Amino acid sequence: MITRYVRYARGDTIAYGVEEGATIRELDGDPFSGPRATGATVPISDVRLLAPCTPSKIIAVGLNYRSHLGGRPAPEYPGVFAKLPSAVIGPDEAIVIPEDAREVHYEGELVVAIGKRAKNVSMERARDCVFGVTAGNDVSERVWQRGDLQWVRAKASDTFAPIGPAIVSGLNYNDLLVQTRVNGEARQAERTRDMLFDVDTVVAYISRYVTLLPGDLIFTGTPGTTTALQPGDVVEVEVEGVGVLRNHVAAAGPE
Ligand code: MG
Repeated sequence: MITRYVRYARGDTIAYGVEEGATIRELDGDPFSGPRATGATVPISDVRLLAPCTPSKIIAVGLNYRSHLGGRPAPEYPGVFAKLPSAVIGPDEAIVIPEDAREVHYEGELVVAIGKRAKNVSMERARDCVFGVTAGNDVSERVWQRGDLQWVRAKASDTFAPIGPAIVSGLNYNDLLVQTRVNGEARQAERTRDMLFDVDTVVAYISRYVTLLPGDLIFTGTPGTTTALQPGDVVEVEVEGVGVLRNHVAAAGPE
């Protein structure tokens, strides 16, 4: 069964819910804790969708599609790095380019949401720990990525982790089309079956080193090539069965 979980604001209230067409059924807790329906419903047009979860950590995989290697050798094991939870934004929020950034790229990706605590799990158990998937944009500053000792600025600056619009459970995440568009123009399109390391392998691998908790996210890598974003651009990441994550790009302004 396919279920769409959203997090939303309505007035001063923030809640999780199940999206069914034009209606959201409110839940009494987050999707990972066995929530129950409160009985309340709200039209989706009356709410502002937020990032669909609030992870304790975000791990990302680099170079996970052959089409993104660009002449580099294929990795022998998943190359992982971290993004910060403070970088998360939701649908329709602005990707803000830091003042001294020069080359901020989109990276459309399938993002996995963990549903159960995972520590040193097998592939089979990893599958059981995956709650669902969403769309994500692994926003990356390439000059900093090439030059800095670590990728904190390059990958984890504020707003560099857009996710959404929903976490969807019940999809075959091993074969979904991931597409990226900038100002409506197609830039990336590839299926997740082309990953060098599939989702279950990546989850099991990460769990050897890092305990994954419910609501944690894994960015699974980007296909193809990427280009620089400019203020005013609109970037869309669409994952088959999930929908479109749309964000506009803005220059940094005064706080
Ligand atoms: Mg990436």
